[in-house]
Amino acid sequence: MASRARAVAANVSGGMFVDATCIDCGTCYTHAPATFRPVGDTSAVHAQPATAAENAAAHRALIACPTGSIGSDDAAAARAAANAFPLPVDVDGVVLPDVRWCGWTSPDSFGAWSWLIERPGGNILVDSPRAAPTLAAGLAARGGVSRIVLSHRDDVADHAYWHERFAAPRLAHAAEGLVFAEEQVAGDQPITLDRDLVLIPVPGHTAGSLCLLYRDEILFTGDHLWWSPPRGRLQASRDYCWHDWDAQLASLRRLLDLPVRWVLPGHGAPWRAPRVGDFRDELTRALDELSG
Ligand code: SF4
Repeated sequence: MASRARAVAANVSGGMFVDATCIDCGTCYTHAPATFRPVGDTSAVHAQPATAAENAAAHRALIACPTGSIGSDDAAAARAAANAFPLPVDVDGVVLPDVRWCGWTSPDSFGAWSWLIERPGGNILVDSPRAAPTLAAGLAARGGVSRIVLSHRDDVADHAYWHERFAAPRLAHAAEGLVFAEEQVAGDQPITLDRDLVLIPVPGHTAGSLCLLYRDEILFTGDHLWWSPPRGRLQASRDYCWHDWDAQLASLRRLLDLPVRWVLPGHGAPWRAPRVGDFRDELTRALDELSG
């Protein structure tokens, strides 16, 4: 629970604040930029919520924060936000009908985002949120989870809780060494899980990183690729590459021909391609800079 006594100095005064336990995961200022922004190696409230929509988003960030570093005087708004997840994915006013953000991030995965795919063939949980009975009730209300796809070893968080709660098998690449995963895949070639789901091995960030392509246009990227609002482009990071940067660049190039319209990452911001072909253009632009 956030402590006003430890509130960071950069907060503006008012009902919401960030305290010194913030790990700068980016969740709050990605989801609620009207209220939060990065300041040095922390986050802070730069403007108190001014509208009902801003207040709701700010309190969803409070719930999603992995470290409980956000405080608020508005207990009713916090209670409402807790029940908002899994939340529809909305980028620039365009809402995905069948994918939701789980919120409730975990410090064990440094606040990585996880996602629920709702599909007739069985819902998929992509990476693991924090163990939270309130979220579990929300997922159960949407049909539960039939399979957990783990993009890589960093974002597994409370996988055991979700595995047991929904009796859902966990899937990972064998190169990640996640021996608990009931389903292991191998190699570097795409693997069709179902007619609407393709696993794409993307070695680089880790040896067994996976992307998951849903409906040919929605790409779950883990820590392989994300949108950077400050840079205004798709981004990957050599500094946060734990395995092989040249391999990660090669894995990024292998995505160029995909008809992707949405990038839904573990860290960084989600992104929607305004037009068919924009993903290729944006990824090419990113690769030109990242390869330099
Ligand atoms: S969500 Fe929490 S830990 Fe992450 S940047 Fe915001 S206050 Fe810090």
